[in-house]
Amino acid sequence: MKLKLYNTLSKNVQEFEPINENLVGIYSCGPTVYSYAHIGNMRSFLFADLLQRVIKVVGKKNVKWVMNITDIDDKTIRDSKPENGNWVKEMGNLSSDPLSNLKIFTNYYINEFINDIQKVGIKKEDVFDFPKATDHIQEMKDLITLIYNNGFAYISEGNVYFNVGKWKESNKYGRLKNIDFENFKKGVRIDADEYEREEVSDFVLWKNKKDGEPAWDFELDGNNLEGRPGWHLECSAMEKKYLDLPFDIHTGGIDLQFPHHEDEIAQSHAGYGIDPTKYWCHCEFLEVEGKKMSKSFGNFFTLRDLEEKGYDPLDIRFAIQSQHYRTKFNFTLDGITAASKGRKKVQNFIDNLLSDAEGDVKVQIEDIKSKVYTELADDLHTPKALAELFTFINNNKNLNFSKESKNQLLEFFKELNLIFDIWKFELEEIKIPSEVVDLAEKRFQAKVNKDWATADEIRNKLTELGYTIKDSKDGYEIIKN
Ligand SMILES: [Zn+2]
Repeated sequence: MKLKLYNTLSKNVQEFEPINENLVGIYSCGPTVYSYAHIGNMRSFLFADLLQRVIKVVGKKNVKWVMNITDIDDKTIRDSKPENGNWVKEMGNLSSDPLSNLKIFTNYYINEFINDIQKVGIKKEDVFDFPKATDHIQEMKDLITLIYNNGFAYISEGNVYFNVGKWKESNKYGRLKNIDFENFKKGVRIDADEYEREEVSDFVLWKNKKDGEPAWDFELDGNNLEGRPGWHLECSAMEKKYLDLPFDIHTGGIDLQFPHHEDEIAQSHAGYGIDPTKYWCHCEFLEVEGKKMSKSFGNFFTLRDLEEKGYDPLDIRFAIQSQHYRTKFNFTLDGITAASKGRKKVQNFIDNLLSDAEGDVKVQIEDIKSKVYTELADDLHTPKALAELFTFINNNKNLNFSKESKNQLLEFFKELNLIFDIWKFELEEIKIPSEVVDLAEKRFQAKVNKDWATADEIRNKLTELGYTIKDSKDGYEIIKN
């Protein structure tokens, strides 16, 4: 099935035409590893995961998915300084070498990140590689040299800047988001990795070494520029190394459109002479209880915060998957509970298909399959796809399907689970505690003795414990609720 995707470059939903029929290249801006990933970050990675799975399952293509790790930037350098945090106590092995401290610090958060994404169902093995910025300094120097030699960079006080004024004489700067150049002053420079659209100016490709910061030698045009790369440059160099340019799809959160992705386009084009990618796909913000997530509002959640509150990471996965990636996601604890119920409803349907019961009802499997896949192929419209699925389940939940239909349905749900990855296909053996078994037996005896009051009392007790008793002609059955 052909997919359609919203492309931030064209501002339209477009038919997705892969560059190479057999292998779709995807690059996702990965985490900056200076703290635990929060659920806003998770939404962006879950979106990329959904995209690559829909391309595989619905689009029937192979995927090469690369996600970089930013292990050097303003924030990682700031927080890896021993005086700027209590990480030294936790991680130990303090060194006098800033690069070694940075590595100890960021490696800790890289491991935590990989653990976290796996908990929410992103498979490590689905990602071709997680290239780290500090392992690609040479590629970054090579790219800066190309940009410089092509006339789009200049050196100032040991830093190298991208010359936006020069670039926009012959190219469009502001391809993802329109930029108002009214306040743009040629030659005004900005050194920070993150800045606002209003601050559009020449941005830094290579930063001069500062005291106590990690640095590498760099020879450019006869100057020795000891320093380190700027954040935007990292992705341009790494995507070139891991994916041929142009590759198919670049993903990220909507907050990365400017300046990060705009600068990536300018750098790649100015250096390699080619746009990095054909489709830019961005997912919207996540808010918590209708507010921007922020530590100061007290509504800031990491995955581990939610696990501590007793929420299942796979319910969080399903809650996020259930909404369209281009709408703002309002994260609420009630929303996770609702997602959990929805997930269970499908699981119950699957469990019934796995049971031995058999009837003669036949299913039109192609019909439901095509409805669900058509919605997924339409710019990953999960809410509509799931609405089709739940309608089907509601209309069919009490039917006794024939063996053939059960097998076809199971096959479909297993395939769907290659995308959603939240259901199980083995009946869980339910172990009923002996206390419950004893109570059920006492209730049965009370009924035999026509002691209805005691029987009712025990039934209520069992309900409280989470069990239902189903009476039959010659006995009873204990059912876990
Ligand atoms: Zn990036």
